[in-house]
Amino acid sequence: MQKYKIVVDPDLCIGAASCVTIDPNTFIMNDENKAEVLDHGEAQGGPTYEREIEMTDDERETLIMAAESCPTLAIFVYDETGEQLYPDM
Ligand code: SF4
Repeated sequence: MQKYKIVVDPDLCIGAASCVTIDPNTFIMNDENKAEVLDHGEAQGGPTYEREIEMTDDERETLIMAAESCPTLAIFVYDETGEQLYPDM
């Protein structure tokens, strides 16, 4: 398992919800029609646009697919060292 930081920029999110469709364990729509980040289906510590999560390689692949599906590139993924994995720099 490795730790990843996942960030949704609410100013970029247009509520298309494709991230939720692809990775409902990690994303959920809030009342403002923005995606928030879950920890394996749980909103531990309350709703948030930013969260650090431990993931298996399979879970990370699903997460990256969800980020790739976002039409406005509102989802950012960083590894433990702070390197940005998505979108590619
Ligand atoms: S796919 Fe992008 S725009 Fe759509 S809800 Fe997710 S973060 Fe927001």
